[in-house]
Amino acid sequence: MEEKKNSEELQNKPKNFIYEIIDGDMETGKFGNKVHTRFPPEPNGYLHIGHAASICLNYGIARDYNGKFNLRFDDTNPEKEEVEYVESIIEDVKWLGGNFEDRIFYASDYFDKMYNWAVELIKNGKAYVDDLSADEIRAYRGTLTEPGKESPSRNRPAEENLSLFEKMKNGEFKNGEKVLRAKIDMTSPNLNLRDPIMYRIVHAEHHRQGNKWCIYPTYDWAHGLEDSIEGITHSICTLEFENHRPLYDWFLNELGVYHPQQIEFARINLNYTVMSKRKLLKLVQEKYVDGWDDPRMPTVSALRRRGYTPEAIRNFTDNSGIAKRDKVSEYALLEFSIREDLNKHANRVMAVLHPLKVVITNYPGTVEELDAVNNPEDPSAGTRKIPFSKEIFVEQSDFMENPPKGYHRLVPGGEVRLRYAYIIKCEEVIKNENGEVTELRCSYDAETRSGTGTSNKKVKGTIHWVSAAHAVEAEVRLYDRLFTAESPDSDKEKDFLEFINPNSLELIPKAYLEPSLKNAKPGERFQFERNGYFCVDTKYTTKDKLVFNRTVTLKDSWGKKAN
Ligand code: ATP
Ligand code: MG
Repeated sequence: MEEKKNSEELQNKPKNFIYEIIDGDMETGKFGNKVHTRFPPEPNGYLHIGHAASICLNYGIARDYNGKFNLRFDDTNPEKEEVEYVESIIEDVKWLGGNFEDRIFYASDYFDKMYNWAVELIKNGKAYVDDLSADEIRAYRGTLTEPGKESPSRNRPAEENLSLFEKMKNGEFKNGEKVLRAKIDMTSPNLNLRDPIMYRIVHAEHHRQGNKWCIYPTYDWAHGLEDSIEGITHSICTLEFENHRPLYDWFLNELGVYHPQQIEFARINLNYTVMSKRKLLKLVQEKYVDGWDDPRMPTVSALRRRGYTPEAIRNFTDNSGIAKRDKVSEYALLEFSIREDLNKHANRVMAVLHPLKVVITNYPGTVEELDAVNNPEDPSAGTRKIPFSKEIFVEQSDFMENPPKGYHRLVPGGEVRLRYAYIIKCEEVIKNENGEVTELRCSYDAETRSGTGTSNKKVKGTIHWVSAAHAVEAEVRLYDRLFTAESPDSDKEKDFLEFINPNSLELIPKAYLEPSLKNAKPGERFQFERNGYFCVDTKYTTKDKLVFNRTVTLKDSWGKKAN
């Protein structure tokens, strides 16, 4: 007997209501036990975390029911679409694990078919060419409380409509001069059924069709047909299309073609950011950020560059849940999911971001190789050697001249352990003419070497360090939220741009890293002990320059542990 679903995978999954609907369809054999989903982006921007949720949902369903998943570009808007977006979307869907195999489709490839269907509706008296302007159409449409008014063109004979529609197609009219409308019901309580527009005239070059067309289908006309053509069983979309469903149904019924089941769910939103493509485009065009993949953006390409893994994004979207009601997910939940993943897989290394030089005055002029553990969560990651010498860098924040109570790091006359090395004591503080601390002179206790030392002296603080002579230099970028408000685009008085966080990027031109990072490759991820998780930047790293992005801060630090 044929298995209905990848049962093990499915049993362990928290089921959302969409799975329940599909389970029901499986029982009744509605679609002959087939499941075929799709992700239908319009190539007018880069994908964001909300799109990622939709990909994970649609692909996940296809996978769990041994079904199929299509990637389909809804490329019906030539003025806003670009090949750059098509390419980035393909890359992002693949990276997220959405396996569409060879099923990548373009709505624009269906334009001939859609045109012929429109002709069929005209012949059946179900569509007409209208001369009203866009403003007039809006005015005639009525409101929720008032019925609409019929256009003077509404009762044109089919023959005249056919000839006008052909002229529209042949480029005999200017933009906005005519539209093709469905002839449904100007008094319907559902405004979407008040003779919606099916085609508009757009004299623009299409990124795939060139100048073949100057009439373009509207989303309302095209979308249901695209799903029908591809044999989609469950057409999953966001809630705003719920009251468009009767319209899609009307078109499919009038044409008598295959009919998918539409299921609506609530958009995933994220706090401290914006998700509308129009607003994201504005951030890019007006250079508030450095491109769509700027690591502060909520786009998939930005999260990838920042160091997020596909697993972390999938876990986040699973944990956010698929619901019937709109809600906002916490940015902290996204950060939690990447931390959890990197904690298991990222090797620990030492890097000093804001360096303070320390000279260990009684240390001989030699170099020792110390053993360091790569990943305490994963013994198979092994150990590495790190060089220790007379001059090291420590973090500026690990020294305080006048410390508050409970500060367990370096203070004048105080002791601290250097991770994997010795206990040192601060003997002298060197300052420049402005009174700023520029260097510390310390002594070390040779008996306190980590692991092998004979002393059982204990100190409260452990800090990281890097040997000055062996350090690798890198540019490091630390990020904060891009917006200062939880919901930057819901303020009625202020534009979302007013909530941009002016301190969302701290660029450290010269940080010092332990030498094992010398050959770190773009995209490689590490934990810089106590400083967070970092990823080698794929955009600006060159043969001669290492650039790191901080993916996320650490929740816990081992700063207090003696080691
Ligand atoms: P617009 O249509 O305004 O350009 P959009 O975000 O809806 O913006 P699409 O390219 O139409 O962009 O989206 C592709 C698919 O992703 C749609 O099926 C849509 O339902 C889904 N999607 C978009 N935003 C979200 C979101 N925030 N959460 C979940 N799914 C989303
Ligand atoms: Mg959309």
